[in-house]
Amino acid sequence: MDKIVSLCKRRGFVYQTSSIYGGLANAYDYGPLGVELLNNIKSLWWKRFVHEREDIVGIDSQIIYHPRVWEASGHTKEFFDPLVEDKKTHKRYRADHLVEAWLKEKGWEDKYKVEDMTFEELKEFIKKHNIKSPEGNEITEPMKFNLLFETYLGSVEGKKRKVYLRGETAQGIFINFKNVLETTRIKLPFGIAQIGKAFRNEITTGQFIFRTFEFEQAEIEYFFDPKKQDWEKLFKGWQEEIWRFVVEDLGINEKKLRWRRHSDAERSHYSKETYDLDFEFPFGFKELWGLAYRTDYDLTQHNKYSGQDLTYWDEETGRRFIPHVIEPSVGPNRIFLMVLINAYREEKERVCLSLKPYLAPYKAAIFPLLANKKELVEKARKIYEQLKRKFHTYWDARGNIGKRYRYQDEIGTPYCITIDFETLEDDTVTVRDRDTMKQERVKVEKLESYLQERLEV
Ligand code: ATP
Repeated sequence: MDKIVSLCKRRGFVYQTSSIYGGLANAYDYGPLGVELLNNIKSLWWKRFVHEREDIVGIDSQIIYHPRVWEASGHTKEFFDPLVEDKKTHKRYRADHLVEAWLKEKGWEDKYKVEDMTFEELKEFIKKHNIKSPEGNEITEPMKFNLLFETYLGSVEGKKRKVYLRGETAQGIFINFKNVLETTRIKLPFGIAQIGKAFRNEITTGQFIFRTFEFEQAEIEYFFDPKKQDWEKLFKGWQEEIWRFVVEDLGINEKKLRWRRHSDAERSHYSKETYDLDFEFPFGFKELWGLAYRTDYDLTQHNKYSGQDLTYWDEETGRRFIPHVIEPSVGPNRIFLMVLINAYREEKERVCLSLKPYLAPYKAAIFPLLANKKELVEKARKIYEQLKRKFHTYWDARGNIGKRYRYQDEIGTPYCITIDFETLEDDTVTVRDRDTMKQERVKVEKLESYLQERLEV
C-alpha cells in the first residue's frame, strides 16, 4: 500500500488536499494523471451501463435536496455507525472496527462475525470482553452516530434552513423517478443511473482514498414489476454483470474478488437482500461494490411523504403499482485504488503500471530519438500534433530514451513511439509495448489505426 501511495504522490495521481496549509485529514485531490484515470473509469462505467443499454438512462441531480427527502428515505433516523470514545484521549472510533481488530488479534475471526451483530449485541460484546481503545484505555458505550453532513441554506441568520449534503446518490434517482417516467418513453423494467459526489461523516477513515468523507458513487436503480420478474433471477443477472465489468473491463484478477452476503443484522433498513463484491486490498477483503434489493421501500416512502403519485401504470395488464428496485452501487474512487493495486508491478529495472490501455491516463507517448536533431523533432512534432487529436498523447524530448520509457511505464502509458533516423527514410516509427517491452516498426500512416485497434474497449 505504501508503494501505491508513494507512486500516486510522486507522479501526480493523488495529492493530499490543502497540503500547503498542512493538509486536511482523509481528503484528497486528484492530480493530472489521477483525474484522467478517474474519468476513464467513470466513462467506461457510463458506456457499459448507460450507452450500451437500451433499458438504462442517466441523470445528474443536485447534491443538496429538499431535507424531507432524507426523512422519507429513513436516513435521518437509520443512517448511523456505532461510535465509541476513548475516555482518556477522547478519540473516536467505530465500535465495529474496534471489535473486528480485537477478534483478529485473538484469532477469533471465525468464531464471531462482527457483521452479524446488531447494535445491541455489539454493545454487549464490548462490555463482556472489556474491549479497550487502541491506546489501551476504557471506552464509552457505543452511541448511534448519524453519517449525514448537515449544512445551512440562506443568508439571513436565524432564518437559515438546515439541509444535508447527500449521503448517497440513490435518493436523487428516486425523487426523479416520476420526471423520467413522464419525459421519456421508457417502460419497465428500466434503470436510472447517476455518477456524483456523496458525503458521509465517517467515524473511522484512513486507508488512503478507500474511505473518505467526500467521495463519488456510481449508482443504478433498476426498477421492475415483481409480479412479472423474479427478483432473484434479476439479482443474479446483476451479479454476473458486475463481475464481468470488474474482471474483463477493468482487468482485475478473479482470485482477489469474492461475493459476500450481508447477514440480517448488517443489512440496511431498506434492503431485503444485499451482497457485496469485495476486493482483496492490502488491508484485507473490503467492499468494492454493493448490490441491494431495495424492494419498493424508497418509492413507497417518497409517495407517502411527498403526497405525489409515484406509481407505474402497466398498459398491458391495467395494473397500477409501485415498482421494486435492485441497486448496484460502487465508488469510482475505490475502483481507482483497486485498479492501481492490481496494475502495479515491480520488475528488475522498472516499476510498471499494467493498466488496461483504455484506462491509462496517456494512451501513447511520442519521443524524437535526439532532442537536438531538428529534422527528428520536426517529424515527431508533426506526428504528435496528429495523434493528440485522437488520443491523449504525451510529448517527451528530454533525457535518454531508457529514462523516458521508465517514466511512461510507471504512469501506465501502453505505447511509446520513437521517431529515429529510419523514420526520415522510410516513414516508419518504433512502437514499444509497455507490458512486453517488444518493439515493432509501424508505418506512420498506419499509426492511428494501429493504436485505435489496441485501445478498443
Ligand atoms: P462500507 O461498509 O465500506 O462503509 P457501505 O456499505 O457504507 O461501505 P454503500 O452504502 O453500500 O457503502 O455505498 C456504495 C459504495 O460507495 C461502496 O461500495 C463504496 O464503493 C462506496 N463508498 C461508500 N462509502 C465510501 C467512503 N466513505 N469513501 C469512498 N467510497 C465509499
